[in-house]
Amino acid sequence: MAKIKKKIRTITVNADKCNGCRTCEVMCSAFHAVPPYSSNNPGRSRIQIITDRLEDIWLPVFAGEYTEAECMGRNKYIIDGKEYRECDSCRASCPARDLFKEPDSGLPLKCDMCDGEDEPICVKWCLVDALSYEEREEEVEEEKPNMTQMEIGLEQFAKKHGLQNVVDTVARMAKKG
Ligand code: SF4
Repeated sequence: MAKIKKKIRTITVNADKCNGCRTCEVMCSAFHAVPPYSSNNPGRSRIQIITDRLEDIWLPVFAGEYTEAECMGRNKYIIDGKEYRECDSCRASCPARDLFKEPDSGLPLKCDMCDGEDEPICVKWCLVDALSYEEREEEVEEEKPNMTQMEIGLEQFAKKHGLQNVVDTVARMAKKG
């Protein structure tokens, strides 16, 4: 298989520094609003702060891949004496919970690292440096293309409203131009 250069983009989360201010959620949702910064709704943010005040847990987690399948079991992790609930650090948009789903449509949300910006908006606005960003290049084997975000979205709409409804709606929209 052919080797290609791939840009690896990493956000490091230092949960010990997070104070739960949720600025990152507000700014992420504002940046991804259409048009950008026209509204904010942390429910639409692709970073969520998993919170347990009694355990003093503030854990920033980024939206990852969409999955149709729910895990068969639940694991618990005890780190520094704090018990993290079953799905706390999971990045998936999955059927078991409402996290990382667009609140109105239910479509999955995924962190895109604010493509086109010099660094993700959440990193820029985290004033206590709980989030840091780096880029590096690695040589990797060329992958077959996955389903695009749009294909995943259309598949969800087709499941919810029926494929013919989706096709008719797109055709109507195309006519309007
Ligand atoms: Fe935590 Fe930083 Fe987000 Fe505030 S902006 S909630 S400190 S990660």
